[in-house]
Amino acid sequence: MTTENPMRLNGRNALVTGGARGIGRAIVLDLARAGANVVTCTRQGGEPAQTLAKELQAIGGEHHVATADVTRQEDIDALVGECERRWGRIDIVVNNAGAISHVPFAELDAAEWHRVVDTGLTATAMVIQRALPLMGEGGSIINIGSKVATVGLPLRAHYTAAKAGLIGLTRSLTKELGERGIRVNLVAPGPIETEAGVPDEVRERYRRLIALGRMGRPEEIATVVTFLAGEQSAFVNGETINVDGGI
Ligand code: NDP
Repeated sequence: MTTENPMRLNGRNALVTGGARGIGRAIVLDLARAGANVVTCTRQGGEPAQTLAKELQAIGGEHHVATADVTRQEDIDALVGECERRWGRIDIVVNNAGAISHVPFAELDAAEWHRVVDTGLTATAMVIQRALPLMGEGGSIINIGSKVATVGLPLRAHYTAAKAGLIGLTRSLTKELGERGIRVNLVAPGPIETEAGVPDEVRERYRRLIALGRMGRPEEIATVVTFLAGEQSAFVNGETINVDGGI
């Protein structure tokens, strides 16, 4: 019997997009605490990136907070190139970066459609494609979708289309990459309260809608991502895992 904790990710290398705040930040910290090395990115750098870098340094391991916009192919190349330079190999890819937007469908212009779909769906596909040569035979890809992809919501046609697209991307890649031992799963959060906060009336509405009577916390998404990243979930593949408190 092995005494090694199957949740441990010692020596594994993780790329997480959009990690400077919100759910991405919790994912980065949870992976690092589990022993993984992490490269993450933010578009603007600044204080959130510096704070995260300090927290990662305190945890230990080899981490880096890069400045990159994942809707730009050259930024993806640089981000993956950073992983290659540091480690020569990527074991875990978490596609977390996403653009939230609320627009009535009749007023939705092509630019806003593209911004949301490019960030939420196209960038995920391009990050995976660029990372794959560094994954070799094995690894875990985790895409952050949304519960709304399967239920729909007004004002979010573009956002839900992007997130629903991730389900198809996840399932198809499962079939294409399985023979390489690479797993692809999707985590679909319900309403999560990040440091950005929400108005009281929104929190109250979710309190009534969610069986557990509260919004979720970023850490409650992060623990599921860490589970999917490691050996404990070795036979979980192509799944959408809703983490929504029973909405
Ligand atoms: P935030 O808006 O708080 O954070 C989004 C993150 O994505 C930021 O770190 C942001 O970085 C990054 N990001 C956005 N666009 C880009 C880009 N083009 N390139 C690189 N990074 C980018 O979102 P949340 O933490 O709330 O959400 C994280 C993920 O979870 C998203 O995919 C979201 O759709 C999903 N989700 C969230 C839910 C919630 O209730 N919060 C519910 C369901 C799903 P920066 O601005 O620093 O560049």
